[in-house]
Amino acid sequence: MIELKSAAEIDRMAVTGQFVGELLAELRAVAAVGVNLMEIEQHARRRIAERGAESCYWDYTPSFGRGPFRNVLCLSVNDAVLHGLPHDYLLRDGDLLSIDMAVEIDGWAADSALSFVVGAPAPADLKLIEATEVALEAGIDAARPGNHLGDISAAIGEVAHRYGYRVNNEFGGHGIGRTMHEAPHVPNDGRPGRGMTLKPGLTIAIEPWFCRTTDKIKFDQDGWTIRSSDGSRSAHSEHTVAVTESGPRVLTLRPEQVAQERSPGGRAAASS
Ligand code: MG
Ligand code: MG
Repeated sequence: MIELKSAAEIDRMAVTGQFVGELLAELRAVAAVGVNLMEIEQHARRRIAERGAESCYWDYTPSFGRGPFRNVLCLSVNDAVLHGLPHDYLLRDGDLLSIDMAVEIDGWAADSALSFVVGAPAPADLKLIEATEVALEAGIDAARPGNHLGDISAAIGEVAHRYGYRVNNEFGGHGIGRTMHEAPHVPNDGRPGRGMTLKPGLTIAIEPWFCRTTDKIKFDQDGWTIRSSDGSRSAHSEHTVAVTESGPRVLTLRPEQVAQERSPGGRAAASS
């Protein structure tokens, strides 16, 4: 069942989303060459506790994982793309890191992820990250009343194909609200005009992820981390988004993105 949220409920999700966006920006600043993944995890645990928030990942026991998960972040390095298990690893120059985080505050969840290179980036990695960000923007832009779920999927898939990447549809976006994962599933590729009609109050996490040279994945021996099957690097970008009468509202903007939205030509400026 899909629960549409009231404007007041979306505002409460936005409180959680603001915290997630701010903490992700903070964690990106912590991540540097020589920093241990567990330092990033510990930093997030401390900040989540200080805020009185609750991690949606802690004790998460999905069908595919070797649960329960006992971390608040997914940290996926290089060929790891999703559900990267934080572990004792010192970041190296040129590593491609994805940080994914979902928390609840006062019973409302928000989920967001970003990817970036630590140290000196390879152009191919920047292109891959850019593709996930452009695809995320395209998916968000399609999250409007009257559009169909398939319009979001098609918009994401179109960007992937334009950049030359193939899409794996085993894992994708999802409804979110009182819990991290709700209906509907939001595939990262699909046909426009298909699927449910989008209504104001629908809240979803949109999360394109691509591997450079494959659409196949494999599970790591740690029981959690999902890697590209051929070892190629991968990237992941995610926001929690509300469909509203006046268009998509991104609930997990990071501070630099808030400034961008409010600038001339930004989404907030364009829709007001
Ligand atoms: Mg996530
Ligand atoms: Mg998600």
